[in-house]
Amino acid sequence: MATTKRDYYEVLSVERNSSGDEIKRAYRKLAVKYHPDKNPDDPEAEEKFKELGEAYDVLIDEQKRAAYDRYGHAAFAQGGVGGGRGGFHDPFDIFREVFSGGTGAGGIFETFFGGGAQAQAGRDGTQRGSDLRYDMQISLEEAAFGVEKEIEVRKLDACDTCHGTGATPGSRTVTCTMCHGRGQVISARGFFQVSQTCPRCRGLGEIIEKPCRVCEGEGRVEKSSRIKIKIPAGIAHGSRLRSSRNGEAGVRGGEQGDLYVVIHVQEHAIFQREEDNLFCEVPISFSTAALGGEVPVPTLEGKASLKVPAGTQSGQSFKLRGKGIVHVNGRDRGDLYARLLVEVPTDLNAEQRQKLEEFQALCGQENSPLGKSFFERAKEFFR
Ligand SMILES: [Zn+2]
Ligand SMILES: [Zn+2]
Repeated sequence: MATTKRDYYEVLSVERNSSGDEIKRAYRKLAVKYHPDKNPDDPEAEEKFKELGEAYDVLIDEQKRAAYDRYGHAAFAQGGVGGGRGGFHDPFDIFREVFSGGTGAGGIFETFFGGGAQAQAGRDGTQRGSDLRYDMQISLEEAAFGVEKEIEVRKLDACDTCHGTGATPGSRTVTCTMCHGRGQVISARGFFQVSQTCPRCRGLGEIIEKPCRVCEGEGRVEKSSRIKIKIPAGIAHGSRLRSSRNGEAGVRGGEQGDLYVVIHVQEHAIFQREEDNLFCEVPISFSTAALGGEVPVPTLEGKASLKVPAGTQSGQSFKLRGKGIVHVNGRDRGDLYARLLVEVPTDLNAEQRQKLEEFQALCGQENSPLGKSFFERAKEFFR
């Protein structure tokens, strides 16, 4: 089904000269309205939500916005400036980013949508707690071998005084005296009678006789918690771990949200990682490369010894089987590729210089296979 795309400014209901803040504000308002969790019965909400995410993704980014202003949607068509639809972020990720909250200990900490529809108060006044996000930095070694970390998270947790119920111990829930249990109150406005949600019990029809004074009846208070996170060996950069029921406590004993830990693997001084394989560069002396021998190669578990043949060339890679990273949740292990760089000796003393000159005088074409084939191929350029 080919449809014409709506103008991104129109999607967000903003002016063409709107500032980043205005765009963000407009997005926040509309994204909450059209979040699919909030509109389970509206099949169009999800499309609208995605459209919003796409529009926001472009207009909030200076470069993408400039391209869009110049070329319109064509800027993001296949092969265009933006590199196709794949270049857009997940609308749910954008949503979470925009709604990110304060900073937790050692990580960015974010409250997202508290399970959407469940964020609405339940019939009994309970409400599911929000899911939380924690960004964790780990080293390549920790990612390779797995690690257990304890993090400190400041969040809303069940109130100890009332055990999360919101009621002073021993107090009961009683029928609301304002609406007599109906949850609605009727007020007269001129000739009309208007029915409204009861402000006292917020429509529940009953109230806690004595709300807990510590949490003011919410059943939760802000606290620091220490949470253990088990990180499996082989975890990839950007992975998200779910720590079940370690998010915010629910209101009045409602279900606990989840904690999501997003893993950021730090760059390593020696190794680069590509999936389960590791790569590193190792210098090798000119004479070892020529004569062959053993080269010490670093691995995640310490020094290994690599046997190289005589005549090893600079830039040649050698595979150390099974010295890479174990596949997450598996037994296979990647390999380590050591790329050897032949080092040309510097600061020669008189004796070394003399020996090298003698050596050079003894060298013929057969000692330089690369040079030989190169000059053969380049012959016509040297005429
Ligand atoms: Zn309490
Ligand atoms: Zn009431």
